[in-house]
Amino acid sequence: MTDKLIIPNFALTALSVLGSNGYKAYLVGGCVRDVLMGRIPGDYDITTSAAPDETLACFKDFKTVETGIKHGTVTVIIEGNPLEITTFRIDGDYSDNRRPDSVSFSSSVADDLARRDFTVNAIAYNPDEGYVDLYGGKEDIKNQIIRCVGEADKRFNEDSLRILRAMRFAASLDFKIEEKTLSAAHKNACLLENISVERIYTEFIKTVCAKSPGKILYEFKKEIEVFIPEFTNLEDEMLRSVFYSVDRAEADRFVRLAVLFACFDSETVRKIFERLKTDKLTEKTVCQILNCRKFTGSDRITARWILNALSYENALRFCEAQSALDPKNTEQILELKFNIEKAYLSNECVNVGQLAVGGNDILNNNIASGVKIGKILNELLELVITGQAENKFDSLLEAAKKLK
Ligand code: ATP
Ligand code: MG
Repeated sequence: MTDKLIIPNFALTALSVLGSNGYKAYLVGGCVRDVLMGRIPGDYDITTSAAPDETLACFKDFKTVETGIKHGTVTVIIEGNPLEITTFRIDGDYSDNRRPDSVSFSSSVADDLARRDFTVNAIAYNPDEGYVDLYGGKEDIKNQIIRCVGEADKRFNEDSLRILRAMRFAASLDFKIEEKTLSAAHKNACLLENISVERIYTEFIKTVCAKSPGKILYEFKKEIEVFIPEFTNLEDEMLRSVFYSVDRAEADRFVRLAVLFACFDSETVRKIFERLKTDKLTEKTVCQILNCRKFTGSDRITARWILNALSYENALRFCEAQSALDPKNTEQILELKFNIEKAYLSNECVNVGQLAVGGNDILNNNIASGVKIGKILNELLELVITGQAENKFDSLLEAAKKLK
């Protein structure tokens, strides 16, 4: 771990603007953690003694957005980069396991660090003062440990989403969860009932897309079963094998969810997605991929049927999911993948739009009209896909006449 953090200029500018106006200001949270770990942060958050209106006054020459003034957050755009600047905050009591009943502003960075979830997320830094690390966050980063700031049981009771954040950080940072934090998480798992599914899904999907989440998913089965109770129908050994199979698939959310939900029928999967208010693209893509499990072969014809049902990218995702679900079958899946690539790259006909005859040809040759045109085209497609007819105008017109 380096002692001086390497911080991009736009973030340093924000710190020095606040500093030169007489306020305390630090980088805090995920960005400090990530830089300490040698990762590139997704965003840079600043915590400051300046009240929101004071922050706005400091940055009057910059573009600002009043993101969450009530909670003390102002967004400042510097060199095109948005920075969230939040006033040191003390969270009031929590009565709903979700949000503080009130927040108040403070002039002490220590207050602000005390409200943060985990030690690794509670380090403040600025180049003049160095680190403010009151909870041993740097040490926990070094030892790869997720540990609550303060008493874990109380912290999970205040905001039970933190339970899933612990799961998510453990998976995405590949850290262990400290014993007391872990047992308090399990003890309070049922409180997840009080959390909105949108917030739950955000943490869940980030966990599922971590590098190797199998172990953590299994460790958090009780928590996951609160919002996906369908998993309780699986024997424990089966559940373990389902969760661990996710590790074998590439970290793409469609592939990972297809692997995770392959143990359910399509109606159940749809219900789960609806309950979790998953976006429609994810729901549709994963269901389409899972539906293709009915194609069991690996030959050219199967490859074409799969390309008929899925886009090329999703057909490759299907192969990826299959090889994670059935690792003993690698050879067959490789063959399928080869045939899918070949069919796609050589532009083989896999859907009606690619047929050498169109609806007008069927109509103009008095073969059929109305809805029957579609039916004939689909039958021609089947002949082409299965290799019983060539995708050529004359031969397809002949075949269509026979179908009539
Ligand atoms: P990521 O890399 O996913 O953005 P992050 O640590 O920046 O990780 P955020 O959700 O962006 O996570 O939150 C920013 C910071 O705010 C956290 O590092 C943590 O200090 C604090 N925080 C966020 N959510 C909570 C919470 N529910 N309870 C306490 N502190 C929280
Ligand atoms: Mg963040």
